[in-house]
Amino acid sequence: MAAPVEQTHASGLASVKHVLLVLSGKGGVGKSTVSTQVALALRQAGKKVGLLDIDLCGPSIPKMLNLESHEVHQCPEGWVPVYVDKEQRLGVMSIGFLLNNRDDAVVWRGPKKNAMIKQFINDVFWQDVDYLVIDTPPGTSDEHITVMEALKEYKPDGAILVTTPQAVAVGDVRRELTFCKKTGLKILGIIENMSGYVCPHCSECNNIFSKGGGEGLAQHASVPFLGCIPFDPQLTQSLEEGKSFVDLFPQSQTLEVIRTIIEQL
Ligand code: ADP
Repeated sequence: MAAPVEQTHASGLASVKHVLLVLSGKGGVGKSTVSTQVALALRQAGKKVGLLDIDLCGPSIPKMLNLESHEVHQCPEGWVPVYVDKEQRLGVMSIGFLLNNRDDAVVWRGPKKNAMIKQFINDVFWQDVDYLVIDTPPGTSDEHITVMEALKEYKPDGAILVTTPQAVAVGDVRRELTFCKKTGLKILGIIENMSGYVCPHCSECNNIFSKGGGEGLAQHASVPFLGCIPFDPQLTQSLEEGKSFVDLFPQSQTLEVIRTIIEQL
């Protein structure tokens, strides 16, 4: 584990214009995928973007962006994010960059995790970022309460809730909705991920599971429905290879869906 920042003059998120949190009721529904694709799409739309991975026990963003071999460095202002591009339009911060070995597990009790999250919010040197996308752990745990406390002065814009079409995942999202209401976090909208299967041969989308749970829930809770992202093998491929989906499959329909989603934020 890299040494903690000793002296910092960072103003935390003071130079960040918008803060978006990505939440899901349970793991494996595509929260990190959505965080990564939203960040990439915002960058493609000309924004300067930060992607903060506070899923301490399951940091997957470094792998998704092929940044696993990178380390975080310190400057007098704090931790310098790892940049995806030379132009420094997408910077990433994750506990994955601080582990000595990428297979190391973070086995920490609550207070240590909470201290790390506070450092991630306060001690990263984000430079004039338009959007900071925060990928949170699944569920509504201590970590979420800590994030909300640490973010209080920065007034986050709100949360994007990710679910899959199956009812059980949707049930978990109900608890996320309650969490947002209790903590005063605005719900920007719900995304139904892995909603239908896009055939790699004919590009037709078939519904394997039920469809519409996310939209129904959004209507029920009177919050916006942002869209359905299909289960897309090309998206899996780009994530597995750590290559940008935008670069690999610029004509993808899924990419269009993601673009439509960010236009609503
Ligand atoms: P979470 O962050 O909720 O635990 P991930 O984003 O890590 O979930 O996604 C879990 C797995 O599902 C990953 O292997 C990812 O590549 C895959 N995945 C997520 N969304 C899609 C999608 N729309 N199409 C294809 N694969 C997806």
